[in-house]
Amino acid sequence: MAKYDYDLFVIGAGSGGTRAARVSAAHGARVAVAEEYRVGGTCVIRGCVPKKLLVYGAHFAEDLKDARRFGWKVPDACEFDWKCLQENVLAEVDRINAAYTSTLESHGVEIIPERAVVTGPHSLKLAGGREVTAERILIAVGARPHVPSCPGHEHGITSNDVFHLDAIPKRILIAGAGYIANEFAGIFNEFGSKVTLINRTDVILRGYDESIRDRLLQISMMKGLDFRFHADFEGITKGKDGCLTVKMSNHEPITVDCVMFATGRVPNTDGLGLDTAGVDLDDKGAVVVDADNQSSCKSIYAVGDVTNRVQLTPVAIREGQAFADSVYGNKPTRVDYTNIPSAVFSHPPMAGVGLTEAEAKQKLGTVKVYLSDFRAMKNVLANRNERCLYKMVCEAETDVVVGLHMIGPDAPEILQAAAIAVKAGLTKQDFDDTVALHPSMAEELVLLR
Ligand code: NDP
Repeated sequence: MAKYDYDLFVIGAGSGGTRAARVSAAHGARVAVAEEYRVGGTCVIRGCVPKKLLVYGAHFAEDLKDARRFGWKVPDACEFDWKCLQENVLAEVDRINAAYTSTLESHGVEIIPERAVVTGPHSLKLAGGREVTAERILIAVGARPHVPSCPGHEHGITSNDVFHLDAIPKRILIAGAGYIANEFAGIFNEFGSKVTLINRTDVILRGYDESIRDRLLQISMMKGLDFRFHADFEGITKGKDGCLTVKMSNHEPITVDCVMFATGRVPNTDGLGLDTAGVDLDDKGAVVVDADNQSSCKSIYAVGDVTNRVQLTPVAIREGQAFADSVYGNKPTRVDYTNIPSAVFSHPPMAGVGLTEAEAKQKLGTVKVYLSDFRAMKNVLANRNERCLYKMVCEAETDVVVGLHMIGPDAPEILQAAAIAVKAGLTKQDFDDTVALHPSMAEELVLLR
């Protein structure tokens, strides 16, 4: 008889946990996965997927305006029906949730729809009271929104709630200036909300190239977004009419209909029992793991946002795959964290891979920087005064491209392809040797001066 109930017990059926569970089962392991909410995790249920669908929905606002310049008769009273979009988006989430569930089941993974907590190196307790054992445990519980502890913070919402709003708020205040803040600022602005974005510093999207960030800030302000910097939350009060008044440092109070916190995400390890197995956490509560995703307790591993390495879905998926292949597939694999492309689905979107200009200067000394600052053909005809900016950063001596950064329509789609060239270590000359595909925005990549 087997010593343990399962070979592998995964806690969390998000992107990383699902991949690890499915592939481990395919390699022959007896696997269970516990999920306290819905199979699919943040990305599928209340993150990347529904957000991207809202981004598509929001884009129609500009497309409808621009369409007139392309000869289409668009009525002035073009109405937006939030409930219709919401229903369709949530139905798509249900579809993907069902697809994830059936993939796990078809691979023989037992799905346990309950919260599980660790009670020792090989043991767990389920919310319903059942105790189970496993040779290995994989922590893939992700992260949750961080909400600053100011008085009245309970009146605010987070990205978890935003997909379930009854109506689009007339006025919304978004706290934070990272990915989620800028993406939803763009979405709400296009849906007609008056958007105010407040941040404790004057840096938006820390980590992205400065020129690209500045361009987003400039275009966002042009579109009517109100930015308030060096503004620390002091409190939120709710009036009798349901309106929220937000007090902040260095600025006048502001009254809005909705406050959304987008102030980072914290690992979901509270109350998970990891102390019972001697699993080390860092000061943010993230599980500390080595390059093989193994924690300080040899039978317990962790992948994805709960490790707070790179909080991106495709990275969690790779970590889950590497874990499964290494432990159950006899194929030792480690994730390569260099040159990971990323994007912000703002209006317009931005994307980048490799070193920013500042990082490259600090790391390599002298660098060569090539820029293209242009107006997309479609924007010219539409009379849309919005310029794209592409930046290539090269090592001065070898001309190897060490960073590529862009803002403009379809930047994430273009950058994903270009990231292959950066990952492959190609040079500026290799880009120049490629004939331009005309007319396109992407051709700017091979015409940079
Ligand atoms: P980010 O880390 O991107 O941004 C957090 C923002 O909140 C920053 O402006 C930060 O300011 C500010 N902030 C942090 N802590 C506090 C605090 N205590 N009080 C006030 N302000 C604070 O986090 P998000 O929540 O936007 O997103 C979380 C993660 O999810 C991202 O890091 C990203 O990895 C992932 N994500 C990826 C997306 C994509 O790939 N397109 C989309 C959405 C999320 P400061 O810079 O000064 O620290």
